[in-house]
Amino acid sequence: MEEYQALWLSAAIRSPIASRDMGSKQSLVKLLTKRQSGQFVTPGNLLGVIEEFTPGQGTYIENGRIYAKVSGRTLLDMQNKTVSVYPLARLVRIPKIGSIITGQVSSIQNKTAHVRIFKIGKDLISGVFSGLLYISDVSRSYVDSLHDTFKPGDIIRAKVISEKNRTFHLSTVDKNLGVLYAYCSQCGEFLQQKRYKLHCSACGRIEKRRFAGDYGEAAF
Ligand SMILES: [Zn+2]
Repeated sequence: MEEYQALWLSAAIRSPIASRDMGSKQSLVKLLTKRQSGQFVTPGNLLGVIEEFTPGQGTYIENGRIYAKVSGRTLLDMQNKTVSVYPLARLVRIPKIGSIITGQVSSIQNKTAHVRIFKIGKDLISGVFSGLLYISDVSRSYVDSLHDTFKPGDIIRAKVISEKNRTFHLSTVDKNLGVLYAYCSQCGEFLQQKRYKLHCSACGRIEKRRFAGDYGEAAF
């Protein structure tokens, strides 16, 4: 709805006929009062007039009007009278309950694995979030020791099942979750899947993991 409005507004104001019809700047300002921070805009969308705002990051001026230079979300700073656009790619993403994340196992105790989350859904993230995976959330079947399911360095896909103080509790119970890439704990070579085990073609070692259905195939 807001997007539609912004687009319409932009097109109307940029068209010379519409501008004439709109008359004074006052009516223009009136039209724009519905704006708020966080609105999605694309390049060329009208953000305001220079009498009213200082153009900030991600904007440009044309004929006294401020437009979005990039696609992103608006930030209206009413105190400093600045309007900016923050590119979507730079928005900091935070895992949520239900998010599918990709991360690297950093350490393992008997009952807990620590995971460094570096991707949420398809998006690589710039911040670092820690995930915790408890032994009870690894698989539907009984797991005796986490050392049989993960090793430090493994790349895993997991689901966020709860969150407390920015520590994300993970689960690999679903079939498409688990280890995506694993490396031989003896020689460091990438492990190939052979039925229910992983096999090192360099040194012949066989290892166990809780691996995902698309082990070795996922891009990350
Ligand atoms: Zn090996």
